[in-house]
Amino acid sequence: MDDIFCKIIRKEIPKEFIYESENLVAFEDINPSADVHILIVPKQHIESIRDVKSEHGQLLTEVYQAVNKLVTDNNLENGLYRVVVNGGKAQHVPHLHFHLLGGQWKKMV
Ligand code: AMP
Repeated sequence: MDDIFCKIIRKEIPKEFIYESENLVAFEDINPSADVHILIVPKQHIESIRDVKSEHGQLLTEVYQAVNKLVTDNNLENGLYRVVVNGGKAQHVPHLHFHLLGGQWKKMV
């Protein structure tokens, strides 16, 4: 696939990963909408929520486990965070991704 997140995952575009596992990467959003703005991206190309199937259950569990780790690592346990799920043709990047937004919000994602 040719979307920018697939290129980052294939390391065709250099990016420092905050977190990487067999199935996921996480990196800072290039245009942050909050004090902490991290993208958690499945390596598998799933375009949007509309394409999620029951076989993705374990992957989605891993996403939220990674979110939990990043919440702890960024001292966000006090609850000042949100997770926004995007992906699909109507958004900017047609590759399912999870925005972890913490602290003060500056704008909508
Ligand atoms: P959306 O699909 O609406 O969730 O928007 C895609 C998000 O990816 C935006 O918040 C962008 O700032 C972010 N983004 C796009 N390209 C990059 C990149 N090369 N590195 C990090 N974040 C990016």
